[in-house]
Amino acid sequence: MTRTYKYRVYPTTQQATTLTQWLTTCRLLYNNALAARKDAWHTHQQSVTYYEQATQLQVAKQTNPCLKVVHSQVLQDTLRRLDKTFSNFFRRLKKGEKAGYPRFKGKYRYDSFTYPQSGFSLEKNNKKLRLSKIGSINITLHRLIPSEGVIKTCTITRDVDHWYACFTVALPDPEPESQQRGIKKAIGVDVGLKSLLTFNNGDTIANPRWLRHSEKKVAKEQRRKDRRQKGSHNRHKQNTKVAQVHQKIRNQRKDFHHKLSRTLVDAYDLIVYENLKITNMVKNHHVAKSISDAGWGQLMCFTEYKAEEAGTLVEYVSAYNTTQLCSRCGKLVPKTLATRIHSCPYCVLDVARDHNSAITILHRSRYYVASRSGQELSVEPV
Ligand SMILES: [Zn+2]
Repeated sequence: MTRTYKYRVYPTTQQATTLTQWLTTCRLLYNNALAARKDAWHTHQQSVTYYEQATQLQVAKQTNPCLKVVHSQVLQDTLRRLDKTFSNFFRRLKKGEKAGYPRFKGKYRYDSFTYPQSGFSLEKNNKKLRLSKIGSINITLHRLIPSEGVIKTCTITRDVDHWYACFTVALPDPEPESQQRGIKKAIGVDVGLKSLLTFNNGDTIANPRWLRHSEKKVAKEQRRKDRRQKGSHNRHKQNTKVAQVHQKIRNQRKDFHHKLSRTLVDAYDLIVYENLKITNMVKNHHVAKSISDAGWGQLMCFTEYKAEEAGTLVEYVSAYNTTQLCSRCGKLVPKTLATRIHSCPYCVLDVARDHNSAITILHRSRYYVASRSGQELSVEPV
């Protein structure tokens, strides 16, 4: 299996300038290669391949000093990214899905480059990241890459004014027999906005509403930005400030989700979520902002990969009518969004709305049902 490990790196001012220059060079290469593909199509209805563009790159390097200073594999990877964008575009077209023609990348829309094979190494007891043609950059490995892992690629990413290194690491697949700890403790989880999580035992985790809490600050910095003249240096500086506030919110949310998913994975052998169509839900503009702010998808994703490492199961069950059905007698008890209590007229079950859903969610789990009835159930990957 493959895992990504992301760490903050601390380049010197000089190194940060070089990193920024590399981003610019890669972005221009990307845009030029995109333009070449567009031209070829418009003038001769011909498509250009990655290999053709990689060959042209070798020629261009002779005359362009900016290209010369960047590690050659990093440049090739930039062309490969474009190639991938095009194959995705054509695949979607073929399937009749909505597909936008690949677009040029604006100045602040190109934030990473990748060493796809070599040219990077960790050294000085994991305190330094050596990048070929850049130098040794300070790095903080807040958690270690497992010794049995093989680092495949290294991507350097800019997030506003912070820099990160992301390593993709190939890890041995977990042994099938150790994959499952046996289901002794299972939990059903209802995700929501009022409470972020409600469990089948009735416990809840409050929704921190990161964005809501910082909304005044966001609005203030945004207003300041709007007052600055378009295209001015001050406006750009203020733009960074707005982005920094959002960055902070993103990091708070991520941190919270990491801790929460860790707690769940450590405490339970089976974690059951609803299979939500989050992209569809976000189309509802009234709640889109709140749903994005809660970040359910991120939480589920973190739970999933931590569970895989720990040999715990995560299961997604159908979300159909989980709020409307009584978790005790299974009868339909209609309620509107405003009804916060599930009060069943048939079996007199009287619990919070989300609590009722969480019980139904747990009961829909195949693994839970099997473990309760003492059945053996072969475990398939999530
Ligand atoms: Zn009932």
